[in-house]
Amino acid sequence: MEELRYQRKHKEDRPVVAICYDFDKTLSPDDMQAQGYIQSVGYEVDKFWEKSNALSWENGMDSNLAYMYLMMEEARGTLVFNRKALEEYGSKVSLFPGADTWFERIRQYGEEHGVIVEHYIISSGLREMIEGTDVAKAGAFEQVYASSFFYDDRGVAVWPAQVVNYTNKTQFLFRISKGVLDWNDPGVNDYFPPDEIRVPFRNMVYIGDSDTDVPCMKLVNSYGGHSIGVFNAKTDDRRKVHKMMQDNRIKYFAPADYSEGTELDCLVKAIIDRTAANEKLESIYYENLKESKG
Ligand SMILES: [Mg+2]
Repeated sequence: MEELRYQRKHKEDRPVVAICYDFDKTLSPDDMQAQGYIQSVGYEVDKFWEKSNALSWENGMDSNLAYMYLMMEEARGTLVFNRKALEEYGSKVSLFPGADTWFERIRQYGEEHGVIVEHYIISSGLREMIEGTDVAKAGAFEQVYASSFFYDDRGVAVWPAQVVNYTNKTQFLFRISKGVLDWNDPGVNDYFPPDEIRVPFRNMVYIGDSDTDVPCMKLVNSYGGHSIGVFNAKTDDRRKVHKMMQDNRIKYFAPADYSEGTELDCLVKAIIDRTAANEKLESIYYENLKESKG
């Protein structure tokens, strides 16, 4: 009975490639809060983060809980801090080139090659803002795992509902892998035989830009998946991706340009091609293994 309460996905006859994205500076050139919200509560962007980091440091507070608290506090008396306002700020967040059509294009590419492509967001930013973007509204994402608020009966944000930080980001990779997608579904700890895992890590792609992505990148890489570091093509600052490459966190890097025919586009398509071929062999292996056991 318990399973009925939760949204679970089960293994299909076609392989699934799950592409997981960080949000800030991976899909969007800047932090989402710095594209309207911080300015509207009268702060300079740097000053807001300084205050938030000090709050975190001085109180031993999770840095994401600190920014969420500060966002709520600074809104008091200035703007109504509800879901709608956050979604509206989200709708103004800009994305890197090509990202507006990327999700559907890549899904379609998978479809043509016998692979189910799914897109997942794993971000320390705000879920409400991500859900306010045009791509999210068009249904690009299977799930948006991000920090979010709890709203009181007047619809005002009063408490954090979820907080996603760089280390707890990794739990979502296990949820996606097993198809146990609900935040609270304890089935994430259940044992699944290898041939019943819906998205083996080898069929997972993680795309991120910085240190906060390192635990996810490392996990995906060490289980045979594909971690990709991206950087802003305009600044062409490759220091972070070179370091992550040297430290064995990522397997590839490319400019964060999601347009057709770019390095990133070709790379992800190559991963899909390889998965399609590789999974044919994997399924023969599991059939043979099954027969040998009688
Ligand atoms: Mg980032």
